[in-house]
Amino acid sequence: MKGVKKQNLPAKICVVCGRPFTWRKKWERVWEEVKFCSERCRRSKPNAGITQDNS
Ligand SMILES: [Zn+2]
Repeated sequence: MKGVKKQNLPAKICVVCGRPFTWRKKWERVWEEVKFCSERCRRSKPNAGITQDNS
């Protein structure tokens, strides 16, 4: 076992499906901006609200 305790990873609630999700390595640089638990939810987000995507 190495240093990091997974239980201590930060978590958020997905704004689309309402499920909690935990920090992932791929989000280490953008964690504060992450609002969706998965790419699927990201693409199914409502039109209202802040959009910063290129889509
Ligand atoms: Zn979700």
